[in-house]
Amino acid sequence: MNQALEIGGGPAGSVAALRLARGGMRTLLVEKNREGHDPVCGGFISADALGLLGRAGIDTRALGGHPIHRMRFQVGPRRLEAELPFPAVGLSRRKLDAVLLQAARDAGAELEFGRSARSLTDTRTISFADSGNIVADAIVLATGKLNLRGVERPGESARGSAKVGLRMALKPSAACAADIAGMIELHLFGDGYAGLVLQEDGNLNLCLSVAAQRLRDAGGSPDRLLAVLEQEAPLLAHRIAAGTLLGEWSSIARIPYGWRAKETLPGLFRVGDQAAVIASLAGDGIGIAIASATAAAKALLQHGPAASAAYQRDFARRARRPLACAELLRAVAESPGWSRPIARMLSACPQVLAWGATATRITA
Ligand SMILES: Cc1cc2nc3c(=O)[nH]c(=O)nc-3n(C[C@H](O)[C@H](O)[C@H](O)COP(=O)(O)OP(=O)(O)OC[C@H]3O[C@@H](n4cnc5c(N)ncnc54)[C@H](O)[C@@H]3O)c2cc1C
Repeated sequence: MNQALEIGGGPAGSVAALRLARGGMRTLLVEKNREGHDPVCGGFISADALGLLGRAGIDTRALGGHPIHRMRFQVGPRRLEAELPFPAVGLSRRKLDAVLLQAARDAGAELEFGRSARSLTDTRTISFADSGNIVADAIVLATGKLNLRGVERPGESARGSAKVGLRMALKPSAACAADIAGMIELHLFGDGYAGLVLQEDGNLNLCLSVAAQRLRDAGGSPDRLLAVLEQEAPLLAHRIAAGTLLGEWSSIARIPYGWRAKETLPGLFRVGDQAAVIASLAGDGIGIAIASATAAAKALLQHGPAASAAYQRDFARRARRPLACAELLRAVAESPGWSRPIARMLSACPQVLAWGATATRITA
């Protein structure tokens, strides 16, 4: 029997596996994808997340991310730029996830790919789509925004219907690459935003978080949605027209922004987006993933499976303020009437950016 079973090989699952294996616990991580992929994510790795990775023994300089030190808000034709209150990097999730999974393997965790967990059948048993079962002393639930049958996030349905996330890589024109170097560029529009960040391979990570209704109005097609946004976000449209969209859209529906797990079952540790889902516009989802995984592994190593409830309560308490601040910033920035006054306020008072960055962060 495995002592610990991690379900999901994103940042939360792999950091938990790494920490537990390093702490001497026999640990198995299962990931439903057979190969590396680029999930919906803006690819913006904050200084806090980099610091947490460093403390987990990851050589963050070797990740090769694109250094970011400025932030640009674009609201229609209006532009605001400010120095970021902390340094960050642009990095594809394909790269980050691969490095973290390898680090977990190097620490002694066993990894299985192409295996999809289907449900929790009792507090220690997970059944799989391939019809096998795994029994473990402790289960670390790291499936991101996807629910697992039997341990669905309680009370998320009301929030969840509102937003969808979309992601694709964009090969930028030379002029665009030069203009956006060192920058995270956020295009605000009604009920959503798009982010652009240069990643380690010189392509842009294009990521949108938008009201599901807007995508439905565009017939469910992200390409048609981008065409509709041309009026509201002309610079974004220009960047896309001058570059080349690469590959397929990744998408995620029903994002439960603002949700956090306040309780759990004995032996079940929710980490990453299964612990708290921070608004992506202002928050540090990868930082939360690593911080929660670190805290869960510490609790499990020190106090055993029975520590799950105390860990979950404590993490929910720590996440309350950052989530609430990020929700406030998201609500204000995404409402059509507010984005222009906000842009004016930020240009008059750029320290608000530093406040926003601090108030939405959580550390281990
Ligand atoms: C639009 C958008 C933009 C974002 N931009 C940023 C950003 O720029 N910076 C940032 O820090 N955060 C960002 N985030 C948040 C960030 O992506 C998440 O918080 C982070 O990925 C959470 O990590 P995780 O490990 O919990 O989940 P995930 O990264 O989602 O990983 C979950 C893993 O579990 C696997 N899995 C799921 N179900 C099963 C199953 N049943 N069996 C086996 N495996 C399974 C999945 O395949 C996946 O690999 C963004 C989020 C959105 C929606």
